[in-house]
Amino acid sequence: MSYAYRVESNGRIELKDFDPGADAGLKRDEGEKRTAHLIEELIELQELLYAARRQSVLIVLQGRDTSGKDGTIRVVSGPLNSQGCEVASFQVPTDVELSHDFLWRVHTHTPAVGHIRIFNRSHYEDVLVVRVHNLASEEVWRARFQHINNFEQLLADSSTIILKFYLHISKEEQEKRLIKREQDATKFWKLSVGDWKERERWNDYAVAYEDVLNRCSAKHAPWFIVPADKKWFRNLAVAEALRDALLPYKESWLQKLEEMGRRELKAIEEYRQTHQ
Ligand code: ADP
Repeated sequence: MSYAYRVESNGRIELKDFDPGADAGLKRDEGEKRTAHLIEELIELQELLYAARRQSVLIVLQGRDTSGKDGTIRVVSGPLNSQGCEVASFQVPTDVELSHDFLWRVHTHTPAVGHIRIFNRSHYEDVLVVRVHNLASEEVWRARFQHINNFEQLLADSSTIILKFYLHISKEEQEKRLIKREQDATKFWKLSVGDWKERERWNDYAVAYEDVLNRCSAKHAPWFIVPADKKWFRNLAVAEALRDALLPYKESWLQKLEEMGRRELKAIEEYRQTHQ
């Protein structure tokens, strides 16, 4: 059983049917052990991905404020080799970005072959915050679902393994986390009145997210709903989905590396013979 729920293409999910507090009956200790083990596997898989240079990996992280995008990046991707794993964060677009199509700023951040790129927020903001706050007309943001699907198809056709995670947090847990920040001076830098304002639009965001999940999940670019009220379970679910997505490529990467090695050994052999 997978810890995160993989949304089918043309899905009909409703977020109310998913428990943000789910933990698959695991205790925290056991969950953390499993995550540690998965991360060991990921470290090995990343090295093969990097060396074989056949695929790239794009991880999209979306979720409401405090849902744990930063924490997931720190725990799951932190231990990976930073030479081959980078993060791109998407904030309110600049004037220059706004003077182009919405995917212009995104495309330059897609991963190079052999690399993992994590999007902390993404092109999906253009059908989420933009929709909820009427920053573009409905005609404009509706057309973006198809543009996004075409864009991700292009990336997948260019050997990109795509995984998209919606970190599913409850309204109660969000309130607890926002209040906790106010009581901890080391977390003051995270305070934003905007987070409380966005909370008032909880249901509008739910509708916008449901559309994203149902319209933009594909076999080559699946969305996963990740129960995120328990941070340790969220990390476990993301790490597992990532390991499961990379593992099927392991054999082909090893094979390529072996072929490369044999070619190089032959070249070394020939070199020795001509230089003795
Ligand atoms: P976070 O809240 O993820 O920790 P920031 O505080 O930098 O990071 O917030 C980034 C903000 O940028 C979010 O409020 C997000 O909705 C907004 N944003 C990102 N992309 C867009 C976009 N395309 N249009 C409008 N706002 C956007």
